[in-house]
Amino acid sequence: KSKYFVAVMGSGSVGKSALTVQFTQGIFIDKYDPTVEDTYTKSFELDGENVCIEVLDTAGSEVLVAMRELYMKSAEGFVLVYNIVEQLFRVKEEEEVPIVLVGNKIDLDSHREVSTNEGKQLSQSYPNCEFWETSCKDRINVDNVFYSIVRKIRDK
Ligand code: GDP
Ligand code: MG
Repeated sequence: KSKYFVAVMGSGSVGKSALTVQFTQGIFIDKYDPTVEDTYTKSFELDGENVCIEVLDTAGSEVLVAMRELYMKSAEGFVLVYNIVEQLFRVKEEEEVPIVLVGNKIDLDSHREVSTNEGKQLSQSYPNCEFWETSCKDRINVDNVFYSIVRKIRDK
């Protein structure tokens, strides 16, 4: 298998687009356009194999509704993003699908409201969910998020 389809979801302005664009294009998007929903592709080598990932950057804020919709669009794995300077959103898993939970904007650590442990704990409420804290601005752990989700889909 070499092609992977992943959806990035979460509330508005948490950094879904910034994460997707930082990963696929290596640039930080400073301005906020809440309406953009698009797919991006990137090819890279992971664990000695060539991988092509298609990332759907969603713009909906209702996580569960979006998730259901996206099952139909056949995403194989999900990256759930929240913003460490805002309260955590809550989702209930409906199926065992590959999930990576992302706490974004760690460059704004002085304004932190969600602790690393709270994120970790939320991730443990999903079966087999990996957790990363990221900064799209400083490009911290951005690659690791997408490497993790590809590995989860691959090794499922
Ligand atoms: P989306 O609605 O989830 O797609 O959010 P965006 O990706 O558009 O980001 C919303 C705003 O947060 C934008 O102004 C981004 O520049 C900013 N942002 C995203 N990620 C980070 C980050 O890691 N650090 C900081 N400081 N700002 C970020
Ligand atoms: Mg967006």
